[in-house]
Amino acid sequence: MAANFQHFLHDHPLELTAIRPPTAETCCSACQAPLVSGRHYYSCKTCAFYLHRPCFNLTQLIHHPVDPDHNLNLVLLQSSDCKACRQQGSGLFYNCSVCQVNYHCLCMLVPLTKQHASHPHELMFKFSSPYGKDGFGCDLCDKPAPDQWLYRCDDCQFDVHLSCSFTPRVQSNGALAIPADYAPSAPVVP
Ligand SMILES: [Zn+2]
Ligand SMILES: [Zn+2]
Ligand SMILES: [Zn+2]
Ligand SMILES: [Zn+2]
Ligand SMILES: [Zn+2]
Ligand SMILES: [Zn+2]
Repeated sequence: MAANFQHFLHDHPLELTAIRPPTAETCCSACQAPLVSGRHYYSCKTCAFYLHRPCFNLTQLIHHPVDPDHNLNLVLLQSSDCKACRQQGSGLFYNCSVCQVNYHCLCMLVPLTKQHASHPHELMFKFSSPYGKDGFGCDLCDKPAPDQWLYRCDDCQFDVHLSCSFTPRVQSNGALAIPADYAPSAPVVP
């Protein structure tokens, strides 16, 4: 008998399984990225609700440098805008009820520095555009960005979207790709 697990945002019992996901497109209900064949994941015994193991373990309440005065709460939403990457999505978000903003659960876990194959220098994480309200132009996809989170090399004025910095980039369904360094037990710290 498989053991039952309960997630505080879902009513039904879940089981931890490594059986092949129903389809190749079956996505995690938290981050909307596909389940990875061969890896353990949580599956609802009643409905189509799935969670990657790291997504199941996301902390319910976090303190994050983007909003030092408030705690952020994990919530499940059908559709929301993410203040970090400015993309629509569904699934798990960190919510600030005071500021009334949401952040993708994955966006809250980005590392503060990052090496990217397209650039020789280490990129630094920034909460806002160095050019203020004008936003910035992404040097990877050449698209303009409103003021949002980014990675930047100050010396070269090299700016990239958060989503473009992940490999692979945003997937066809709009979900962020899970970064290789995805580790929910270690959220970014100031
Ligand atoms: Zn997930
Ligand atoms: Zn269910
Ligand atoms: Zn986001
Ligand atoms: Zn707040
Ligand atoms: Zn870009
Ligand atoms: Zn540089």
